[in-house]
Amino acid sequence: MSDLFDIPEAPVRNPRIIAVVNQKGGVGKTTTAINVATAMAACQRRVLLVDLDPQGNASTGMGLSPHIKRNGSYHVLLGLAQLGPSVRPSRIPGLDILPASPDLAGVEIELVNLPEREYRLRNTLGKSHHSYDYVVIDCPPSMGLLTLNALTASQQMLIPLQCEFYALEGLSHLLNTHAQIRQGFNPNLEILGIVLTMYDGRNALCVQVAQDVRSHFGALVFANEIPRNVKVSEAPSHGVPALIYDVRSVGSRSYMGLASEIIQRNQEKLAS
Ligand code: ADP
Ligand code: MG
Repeated sequence: MSDLFDIPEAPVRNPRIIAVVNQKGGVGKTTTAINVATAMAACQRRVLLVDLDPQGNASTGMGLSPHIKRNGSYHVLLGLAQLGPSVRPSRIPGLDILPASPDLAGVEIELVNLPEREYRLRNTLGKSHHSYDYVVIDCPPSMGLLTLNALTASQQMLIPLQCEFYALEGLSHLLNTHAQIRQGFNPNLEILGIVLTMYDGRNALCVQVAQDVRSHFGALVFANEIPRNVKVSEAPSHGVPALIYDVRSVGSRSYMGLASEIIQRNQEKLAS
């Protein structure tokens, strides 16, 4: 076909699969997953956003109401549906989403007795993800089988960190988990970076924690930190990413900066 019409073959892509992960809830995982995915699509990348959280916040934040009859990540994980037909286009060109559905809440129990229960997502993504440059997975706030599936399927962990008193403690747990996953399940899993979220420069504790994280983890911490910003928190109730809700807000600009840092880090990795 492409020879006849002189259409170049679609490049066979080898997507980067990024799990947005932190076992704590409310630290900005979903907000980061949605806005990084959107910003990457704005940078002409083809992106798939996978909602792996039974709460379905990434789906509703993208304007998709969790619908029992539509296939989503639950059906794909259990092998009840193929990835391709379950993926839905978003309003943003270049950005597709594999939504969550309410059934996802019980999937960890259903997965327990299935073969390759830790590798279900990797197996399906491995078959059909090559039309994307990036796959961004929004993880639930726990370290159960859903997050394990995300971490075995991914090459990289993106860690949102809210600058609060227990942040460093939570981070050390997460780094232990990373070491365990590399040993037991996915030796290629690397840490893409830590992003400071809901940063408030007027809060002394927040500033201190940010300094501590930067001095401990150096270049692993992204230069762009995401400020606490009302536009970012309002956007999900309108079913759109902050970048669409108000592209000029400081939150949106920070997420654009973060996405370009992520793209840059990956280009450097490819070149080295
Ligand atoms: P998680 O997915 O880790 O549970 P969310 O992304 O859902 O965290 O964020 C938790 C809450 O904080 C949400 O209500 C979200 O709108 C809000 N929020 C996240 N990032 C920001 C920000 N930069 N500024 C203001 N509110 C934010
Ligand atoms: Mg979430």
